[in-house]
Amino acid sequence: MKEKTMRDICKMARKLAKPYRMTDGDSFRLKDISPADTLDLKAEDKPRAQEVLAIGVQTLATLQDMLYAQDRWGLLLIFQAMDAAGKDGAIKHVMSGVNPQGVDVHSFKVPSAEDLDHDYLWRCMKYVPERGRIGIFNRSYYEETLVVRVHPEFLTNQKLPPELVTKDIWKDRFQDIRSFERYLVRNGIVIRKFFLHVSKKEQKRRFLERVENPDKNWKFSASDLKEREFWNQYMEAYEDMIRQTATEDAPWFVVPADNKWFTRVIIAAAVIDALASMNLSYPEVGEEKQKELTAVRKALTKK
Ligand code: ATP
Ligand code: MG
Repeated sequence: MKEKTMRDICKMARKLAKPYRMTDGDSFRLKDISPADTLDLKAEDKPRAQEVLAIGVQTLATLQDMLYAQDRWGLLLIFQAMDAAGKDGAIKHVMSGVNPQGVDVHSFKVPSAEDLDHDYLWRCMKYVPERGRIGIFNRSYYEETLVVRVHPEFLTNQKLPPELVTKDIWKDRFQDIRSFERYLVRNGIVIRKFFLHVSKKEQKRRFLERVENPDKNWKFSASDLKEREFWNQYMEAYEDMIRQTATEDAPWFVVPADNKWFTRVIIAAAVIDALASMNLSYPEVGEEKQKELTAVRKALTKK
């Protein structure tokens, strides 16, 4: 890819993702972002959006190759959402062009007995990406301020000393998460967090599709329906989470998720922008190596 083309794409990516990028929690309100938003794109622009996504995926692959070769920065992408918001599909499509050797995806489910014997960041810390790699968290330690907040019985399972479980527990967790993320960022691990903002109405439509389409039956679980009953509590928890943890270091992207094609374009744009911010380049080889390469060229052309 030509350098100018690359620069233009990175610029466009930054512009596309900007309206959804939250770095200052204080001014954030969930109601300000509509799940159905598609900027000025209409349904008939969908094919064009898919072309843009394909170009984005290509650009991402090139940048990831440089990330790997340079081996200095790491990139941690965190995905949070209600069920059926499209996390899995977005990860699959946005990362489709990237060399699988450079990416690790990890899904965080209900904690195991071993997890519960540790502090809550323990199980996630083990999967923070190495330098040169992209790490994806499909759910994350943020569940500790979401599902655990909505269902306090999860907190009881965590075997914390009772005197540490006070009314300030969520405030404390947000503070710890902010500090943890700042620590990672100061170590060269760039963090981008995505909340896929789907509407309750669209979730219903997608659940029905899962029930009615045999190929999608496996995706439906009765517990998803149960969580839907807690919709308002979840939305409050999400809003507070973003207000408390959207920082310049580790921004949240609140991505409209009622239209999958749009969600994917915005996520790809935000990931490209994150990689572009690292000023990546292929490592230049020194004089010794140059000599070696010249010798190899000579030897090969002789044969
Ligand atoms: P899918 O989209 O395929 O349903 P999923 O991410 O919802 O994927 P599931 O196996 O359905 O995966 O469920 C994971 C469940 O684990 C979620 O309901 C989530 O809230 C729960 N979970 C994740 N982290 C924690 C945690 N720290 N404490 C309690 N529950 C958690
Ligand atoms: Mg689920």
